[in-house]
Amino acid sequence: MVVATEVDKFYSNGCHALKSVTASIKRGEVVAIIGPSGSGKSTFLRTLNQLEEISSGSIFVDGVDMYDKSTNINQLRQNVGMVFQSFNLFPHKTALENVMLAPLKVAKRPLKQVEEEAKSLMKRVGLADRMNNYPSHLSGGQQQRVAIARSLAMQPDLMLFDEPTSALDPEMVGEVLDVIKGLAKEGMTMAIVTHEMGFAKEVADRVLFMEDGALLVDDSPDKVFDNPAHPRLKQFLAKVL
Ligand code: ADP
Repeated sequence: MVVATEVDKFYSNGCHALKSVTASIKRGEVVAIIGPSGSGKSTFLRTLNQLEEISSGSIFVDGVDMYDKSTNINQLRQNVGMVFQSFNLFPHKTALENVMLAPLKVAKRPLKQVEEEAKSLMKRVGLADRMNNYPSHLSGGQQQRVAIARSLAMQPDLMLFDEPTSALDPEMVGEVLDVIKGLAKEGMTMAIVTHEMGFAKEVADRVLFMEDGALLVDDSPDKVFDNPAHPRLKQFLAKVL
């Protein structure tokens, strides 16, 4: 589903945010990306749907070269859903309207069908009784679940999550992680940048550990969390666990 090869990224300020990162994600696989703050996790995730340009290397998503000039990036982006730390829902639209917006405006699909699918997505994220609420009348956890439904509404093949629970009060983290766990069970291909180590261990098929722009470890959750070999990973886990 994703093949990234020797990806380097320099920001315009000269920051070398990704250093020859080579990684892949198979269809149906859940990959957790962990590491200290500033290690390049978010940058890497954002290169997977070209929210950040890469400086060199290559990234193929679903067999399509993302950085080939002939690639229609807008079309490709529709196959890749992204959920951020901040939910960014439209405040003047209800939860259901937020979920319906992209399928109507971007994919230009028929209203009736879009509405039915949006309602079923709201149920899927456990918010059947909140469809007509405006974001300001929803908790952070509920807003994030609407944001997930909004991404799913475009029927993506790949979902990217960038610290989806970091902005939430602790009691709301579980409800959002449960929705992501549900997606994993259904076989959605996902890459998740997270600080929730217990969640990463439970839900991920594979864990990537990054430090200082480099991918240092790419291994099973058991090996990463129960038997970490790399000294930098050991140090990191000793701090966060
Ligand atoms: P992480 O997600 O692991 O916290 P980031 O990918 O956000 O790490 O950042 C990696 C490095 O790139 C950091 O040194 C950060 O300061 C830098 N960086 C991130 N975004 C930008 C930007 N837009 N311009 C310049 N430097 C950036």
